[in-house]
Amino acid sequence: MLVGVLALQGDVREHERALAHCGAVTMRVRNSGQLRRIDGLVIPGGESTTITKLAIDLGLFEPLAARVREGMPIFGSCAGMIMLASRVEGGLPGQPGLAAIDMTVRRNAFGRQVESFESDVDMPAIGDEPIRGVFIRAPWVERVGPGVEVLATVPGPGALDRIVAVRQGVALATAFHPELTGDHRVHRLFVESIGANQRELMEEER
Ligand code: GLN
Repeated sequence: MLVGVLALQGDVREHERALAHCGAVTMRVRNSGQLRRIDGLVIPGGESTTITKLAIDLGLFEPLAARVREGMPIFGSCAGMIMLASRVEGGLPGQPGLAAIDMTVRRNAFGRQVESFESDVDMPAIGDEPIRGVFIRAPWVERVGPGVEVLATVPGPGALDRIVAVRQGVALATAFHPELTGDHRVHRLFVESIGANQRELMEEER
């Protein structure tokens, strides 16, 4: 199993470390040849406008969207979550998403005054223990389509619960950064989903 980490900008190394911890072999992805070789991809935290622009300029955005449509497992944290959206609010004019998950994501949603915060997040999909959520100019999910599972929420401004982790099929996204905490359960969930996906593909070939 080869897991790619999109390495255009952002906290690539932290994701590599977390994935290695889960027993995955990783490869940095910067071109479409590398993109073809991987069994799953992580889009790191960073700056979604920059990563999107670089991906478009390098001719990587469309091949990436194509692999998503083919059903490649993909995980995005923070900026990565924004990139997985079908619709982005508060981004650059017309900022495209990869539409891996049927959701509208609002950039920098938690607001300037609380640009960064940490909070314990209940996420039953990874176990009973809450995970420490590190939110850095984080987005939230404003709308999800019917096929999307909400995996976690946190109280946002006005004590309204805001969606911060979602899954749709083989696509997973968190508004926070599990790669920064040393808690590798989200990465393990993702690596396991790649394994399950590979077994399914092998079954289909038989
Ligand atoms: N605000 C950033 C963006 O729009 C995301 C921040 C992050 O990844 N920590 O991409």
